[in-house]
Amino acid sequence: MNAALLHSPCELFSHLYVERAVIDHPQTKRIMARFPRSHIIEIDHYKDVFNRPNQDFRIQSRSKNLILARREAPYLYEGSYYSDGFEFENFFYTPTLLGCLYDCDYCYLQGMYNSANNVLFVNIEAYFEAVKPHLDKPTLVAISYDTDTLATESLSGHSAAWIVFAGREPNLNLEIRTKSANFKPLRSLEPSAQIVLAWTLSPQVIIDRYEHKTPSLRQRLKAIAEALQAGWQVRLCIDPVIYNDDFEALYLPFVDEIFATLDAEKIHQLTLGSFRMSSTYLKRIKKMHSSDIAFYPYEVNDGVASYSKAVEQKILATMVAKVTAYFPKEKIRTWEI
Ligand code: SF4
Repeated sequence: MNAALLHSPCELFSHLYVERAVIDHPQTKRIMARFPRSHIIEIDHYKDVFNRPNQDFRIQSRSKNLILARREAPYLYEGSYYSDGFEFENFFYTPTLLGCLYDCDYCYLQGMYNSANNVLFVNIEAYFEAVKPHLDKPTLVAISYDTDTLATESLSGHSAAWIVFAGREPNLNLEIRTKSANFKPLRSLEPSAQIVLAWTLSPQVIIDRYEHKTPSLRQRLKAIAEALQAGWQVRLCIDPVIYNDDFEALYLPFVDEIFATLDAEKIHQLTLGSFRMSSTYLKRIKKMHSSDIAFYPYEVNDGVASYSKAVEQKILATMVAKVTAYFPKEKIRTWEI
C-alpha cells in the first residue's frame, strides 16, 4: 500500500476549503475539529475551487485538499449505461462526495473533473429527503459510485448514515462499492439483506502498478473476511480486469488466492468486467501522460473505449472458467459492452 494511506484521511489534507454557508453545520464543525493543523480557507461555493480551469490533476493528486460544501439538487442520478442496476425497478447513484482519496490510473474521474481534490457534502439529510419519494417500489442506490465512500468513512460517516436510514426504509437497497480495508466503522452496525458491500479486487501486481494509495489485496481480503463473518452480504468485483501479456499469469493465481482466503459459500455474488471508459475522458487522461493504461489500443464504439471483442471474450471466458472452479456460475455477473 502506498505510504500516504498508512495515515488516516485526517492527516492527509493540508488545506480545508469550507463554504461559508456550511461553516456552522454540525458535520462541518465535527470534521474541522479533526484538522487542527490544516489551513482553513472560507469560500463562497465549492465550484469556485473544484471547477476552476487549468488545474493539474496529476500534481494535485500528490497532495489532495478537502472542500466542505452544501449540495444542491440534483441529489440522485439515474444509474448509467456503464453500470449494473441488478434488475431493481429504480436504480440511482448519488454523489455525497466528489473525487476520491485513491488514485487509480484507469479511473475516469481524471477525465471527468478539473480537480483531484475531494468535495464532501455535509448536508446528507437532503439526500435522504430526495430518495424518499421513490421508495414506493424496490430501489437501489449506489452510494459509492463515482468515489470510494468507505475510504473516507472515518471523516464523513456517510455509509453508516445511509445504512441506518435504509433500516427505516424497507424498499431502499444500497450498494457500497469500495477498495478500502476500512471495515471498522461498520462493525457496530447490524448487517442487512438490503445492503451489499461490493469489494473491488485486483491482483497485487495490478494494485501496485495502477491502484495508487489503495489497500493491498491481502488487507482487502481480511476486511471482506471480517464482513462475511459478521453476516454482511458481500459482492466481489473483479472489475475492471486489466489486460496485458501477463493477464493469465496474474489473474489465475489471484482467483486461487481469493478463494483460499474467503469462504465461497458466504459470498453473495461476483462481478466480472473488463476496462471500459468514455472515449472523451480517455482522451483527456492521455494528455496527462501518467500511465501506460491510457495508451492501450482500445476500440471505440458509440463513444466507449474498450478492449476488442476478441480480447474481451478471452478475458471473460478465462475468468469465468477459473472462477467457476470455486463459485457457482449462476452467482457470477458479467459485463460486456
Ligand atoms: S477507487 Fe474507484 S473512484 Fe477511487 S480512484 Fe479508484 S477507480 Fe476511481
